[in-house]
Amino acid sequence: MMKGLYLHIPFCEHKCIYCDFYSIEQSDSFDRFVRTITREINLTSGKIEDDPVFTSIFFGGGTPSLLSPVQIRKIMDALHRNFVVAPDAEVTVETNPGTVDDEKLRAYKAIGVNRLSIGVQSFSTGDLTFLTRIHSVEDAERCYYNAREAAYDNINIDLMFSLPTHTKNRWINNLNRIIELEPDHISAYSLTYEKGTPLYQKLKNKEVTPLEEDLDAELYGITLDMLDNAGYEQYEISNYARSGKQCLHNRTYWESCEYLGFGPSAHSFYKGRRYWNINNLQKYNRKVRAGLLPVAGEEMLTELQRAEEEIFLGLRKTGIDLKKMKNSYNLDILKIKTKEISSFSERGFVVIDNDYLRLTKQGKAYADMIASELM
Ligand code: SF4
Repeated sequence: MMKGLYLHIPFCEHKCIYCDFYSIEQSDSFDRFVRTITREINLTSGKIEDDPVFTSIFFGGGTPSLLSPVQIRKIMDALHRNFVVAPDAEVTVETNPGTVDDEKLRAYKAIGVNRLSIGVQSFSTGDLTFLTRIHSVEDAERCYYNAREAAYDNINIDLMFSLPTHTKNRWINNLNRIIELEPDHISAYSLTYEKGTPLYQKLKNKEVTPLEEDLDAELYGITLDMLDNAGYEQYEISNYARSGKQCLHNRTYWESCEYLGFGPSAHSFYKGRRYWNINNLQKYNRKVRAGLLPVAGEEMLTELQRAEEEIFLGLRKTGIDLKKMKNSYNLDILKIKTKEISSFSERGFVVIDNDYLRLTKQGKAYADMIASELM
């Protein structure tokens, strides 16, 4: 059974216009933060009664690649001191190309980082300017080549589509470039307009116009075809991997396995309890330094919530397991949602295949809408 450890590093050099992850613009006091998160790791391990074996460590954020290799190593040492980590655990650092050079990437590798997730987002200068990224296309490509030179054999590249600046050709150019680079894993997400972000404000002020839904679906369909032809298997609605290179850590979330999160705003799921940390660095610091866990809220998942998660996550992967829904939750989805399922089926969005309700290629572009109708 997979189990994950997640570290949320809440610093960014600059806040990107679309981002709603918790992070603050800061480039110092990292040592202090490392001491605090290390303390949180110690405090948490005292509350874990059994001795689970963790199969992945994921440094996310924020921009974890702002931390020096020594700082990352201190956090990893604290994890190893407090938990059992599998010898072949996947260890990922999310990397902003504007924050690393080849020396740093080599040093990360030397301390046990074996997977990089590079936030490229686009191979077009216009797109990067629109997204207010701190790096150029050249920085992103240099980062990727440096990582290969440093012998990383498990690299993800993040891309974003359906920007207001996107035409079909611009997105196809992006896909052609990523296919040329041959990363082991690709995450490609459609741009979303999250409340509270400057991008959302621009939308409200009518300064940006989102792409038409049909074009968004078309770009998504092009992504599926081009990446499939290039030998990438789609194993989650927005994630594609070469053989053997699926992201273990993300699968921990998608397969409802347990994980512990550290750092402000980090989420955990353990023994059926879901809980999340304070999303404010100062308050987080105060709690942990007082010897308290910085938990902001928690819930025990009810049976209905677990069933809803199965539907949501199932649709994003290989389909809803209809037999399991009946046996584990006493829910006959085909009966309860007859009208909705017939309508989706007539529109070519879903099929029933071997006791699974699966999305078709067209349906995948509307996965969230279909999930919410079925939940
Ligand atoms: S670098 Fe990443 S975490 Fe930081 S603001 Fe940009 S998208 Fe958000």
